[in-house]
Amino acid sequence: MFNAFITEPKMLQNLNDLGYVSMTPIQKACIPLALAGRDLVAKAKTGSGKTAAFGIPLLMALHVNSMRIQSVVLCPTRELAEQVSAELRRLARFAHNIKIVTLCGGARFVPQCINLEHGAHIVVGTPGRILQHLQEKTINFEHIKTLVLDEADRMLDMGFYEDIEKIIAKMPQKRQTLLFSATFPKEIERMCHEVQNDALHVSIEEEA
Ligand code: ADP
Ligand code: MG
Repeated sequence: MFNAFITEPKMLQNLNDLGYVSMTPIQKACIPLALAGRDLVAKAKTGSGKTAAFGIPLLMALHVNSMRIQSVVLCPTRELAEQVSAELRRLARFAHNIKIVTLCGGARFVPQCINLEHGAHIVVGTPGRILQHLQEKTINFEHIKTLVLDEADRMLDMGFYEDIEKIIAKMPQKRQTLLFSATFPKEIERMCHEVQNDALHVSIEEEA
């Protein structure tokens, strides 16, 4: 049950409204560790509820009164970023004022800048466009508390490693980094080593 780890009644009520009665295995494994501030490397198949596994802890840690960007979720494609944003917005319904901005390539740059003018709590997007915003100084990541690398293996396959490194260089070293990946090639191991701090590994094998 979610109430084993989540004490905020409004969050619990919203999960209930969404029909989230029990936690999926990856949520059971990740939520308490992520709430405790640990870095995680998590492996679980598609459809296992990974978005809420990072989304719930990330939303619980937000300082809603500050309009600084506190969390970033990097995704390999625009479609996936939009799915993550939509799920985070559903999870964020417990509060009225959580601003989640999606920044992906293929969308016009200027409207994204206008949308960022009054600040945001969470940014979700693809590495290329997020790096562009950092370089143009239309966002700053100096107050990031949590970085999520979603579908990390696909991001590496798509050649985003350098962009991800440049994005991370703009963040505080003292932060939480949560990495989700379906597979664990050597490159992922190397990346974990470089961007994480004493990460715990969580793997949910498929049930028979
Ligand atoms: P993944 O990223 O692992 O592929 P998603 O986070 O996209 O999976 O979740 C898959 C679907 O499961 C979504 O439609 C989501 O709303 C739903 N879901 C996630 N967690 C729960 C839960 N605890 N109870 C019921 N449905 C859930
Ligand atoms: Mg996912």
